[in-house]
Amino acid sequence: MPTHTADRRSPLSRVDGPEELRRRCDRIRAAGQSLGLVPTMGALHAGHRRLIQRSRAECDRTVVSIFVNPIQFGPGEDLNLYPRSLDADLAVCAELGVDLAYAPSEAAMYPEGFATRVNLRGALVETLEGARRPGHFEGVATVVTKLLVTARPDRAYFGHKDAQQCAVVRRLAADLNTGAEIVVCPTVRDADGLALSSRNARLDPAGRRQALAIPAALAAADAAFRLGERDAEAIRDVVLRRLAESPALDVDYVAVVDALTFLPITKMHVRCEILIAARMGGVRLIDVLTPGTDEGLVVGVGE
Ligand code: AMP
Repeated sequence: MPTHTADRRSPLSRVDGPEELRRRCDRIRAAGQSLGLVPTMGALHAGHRRLIQRSRAECDRTVVSIFVNPIQFGPGEDLNLYPRSLDADLAVCAELGVDLAYAPSEAAMYPEGFATRVNLRGALVETLEGARRPGHFEGVATVVTKLLVTARPDRAYFGHKDAQQCAVVRRLAADLNTGAEIVVCPTVRDADGLALSSRNARLDPAGRRQALAIPAALAAADAAFRLGERDAEAIRDVVLRRLAESPALDVDYVAVVDALTFLPITKMHVRCEILIAARMGGVRLIDVLTPGTDEGLVVGVGE
C-alpha cells in the first residue's frame, strides 16, 4: 500500500522521451516508492479516470502514458479520426494527482530504424479481435512492452472493456518476467449502460440508441445466467436475439470464451466472458461481461 502523505505531492511533470521516463521512474524506485503505470491513448474519460484513481490508491507514484499508438491500427482503421486532446488530458492528470504524464511523439517512441515487434502466439492473439484486426495485438504488445521495460512499474492498470487486450498483456508481462502486476479494472459505463469509449463521441443520437442493444444484450445474458442457464450456446443465442432488435447494428462477433485462453467454451464456468464486437455506422464498439459477477452492468458511474 502507498506510503505517501499529504505533503508528498508534487505537481504533474510532463515527460516526452523514454530516457527521461526511465530516469524519473528509476528515481522513484530508488526512493523506495512503488510505481503504478496507466497506459492510455488519451481523450481521457471516466474509464481512464477510474484506472488512474486505482493506481493512486494502490501505488506511491503514478505515471500515465498518453500515446496514440499508430502500429496497433490497421490500414483503413480510424487512426486519423482518433480524438486527440492532450491539454485536456494533462489537466485531468493534474487534477487526479498523477506524478508523471508520459506523452512522447511518434518519433520518440519509434525513432528512425526502429525494427522490433513483440508477438505472441496461439489462440489468444489469433481469434476475435486478433482475427478481425491483423497486427493489432502485435502493436499493442510492442508498445506495452516498451512501457513496461522503460518505466518498470510495480503495477500496470488496464480496463476490462478490452478483455482480450488484458489477457494478452497479462500473458506477455508474465512471459517476459517484467515483474509488473497487471491489474484489470471494471468497465465504466455511461448512465444509459454504454461502455465508455473515446470512440462513442462519433455516434450520433440515433446510432447511440441502436448501440445500447450491446449492454442490453449482455444484461439479458447475465439474467439468463443468474437464472441457471449454463449452456454457452444458449447464452450466445440470448445475446444474438437481443442484438437483432437493433437492425442498424452490424454484429461482428458474439463469443463465449474462457477468460485466460480465449478459447470458446460449451459450458459456462467461473472464468468465462461474453464478448461482443459490433459496428454502428463507422464506429466499431466492443463490450464484455463476466456473468454472475459483481462487475455486472453497473451504470451511471461515467461522466
Ligand atoms: P485507450 O485509451 O482506449 O487505449 O484505453 C486505455 C485504457 O483504459 C485501457 O486499459 C482500456 O481498457 C481502459 N478503458 C477504456 N475504456 C474503459 C472503460 N469504459 N472502463 C474501464 N476502462 C476503460
